[in-house]
Amino acid sequence: MQNTEQHLCELDHCGKPQEHVTICHQHVEEAETELRQFSIEELLRLYAIARGEERTAEKVARKTMGQAVSEDVLDLATFDLAQNITHHWPNLLPHMATHPDAAKLYWKILGGCNLAQTKINGDQRKQYSEQEYEDAKKKVRYPMPAEELIDYMHDFFGIRITKTDLWNWKSRKKIDSIKVPGEKKHLYTPKQVLEAYS
Ligand SMILES: [Zn+2]
Repeated sequence: MQNTEQHLCELDHCGKPQEHVTICHQHVEEAETELRQFSIEELLRLYAIARGEERTAEKVARKTMGQAVSEDVLDLATFDLAQNITHHWPNLLPHMATHPDAAKLYWKILGGCNLAQTKINGDQRKQYSEQEYEDAKKKVRYPMPAEELIDYMHDFFGIRITKTDLWNWKSRKKIDSIKVPGEKKHLYTPKQVLEAYS
């Protein structure tokens, strides 16, 4: 430790001068938000996955015909993760900013929450910042071409649709493409898809 040098927030992407804490309080709040993203149902599902009562969404997606299903054993890694998310990590939050390993802990929490999300819900959805989330929400009424719409529905809603789905909905009059002057492509809004999809 060189006392002459100013201590900086130990998260590389931040690096703001911080004298009394290892990482800024703001990052503790970020970690807290990550930990709070799970509903009670999702946490119960994570424990059920750990106990082998439910298969992870990843495994369900990868399951092939005829594959043996014998997974009623405790999955220790998943059990650990569930314990961390429900108990250990929330308990560390009040002192996290001054914890000597705060930067490591921050990445552990973010990574752990991401992994849990994949185990529970199985998709590799893009993680949105609050601003991106707000912008994405506004886009729900914007007309966009099929390609862009397909990506948007997956990234933002976790809904997989195909061009064929769009054509089917169109032919059944569940959706009408939107005409914009000077635009040759058929345009649709995410809102229309959500209504047709349900
Ligand atoms: Zn910082």
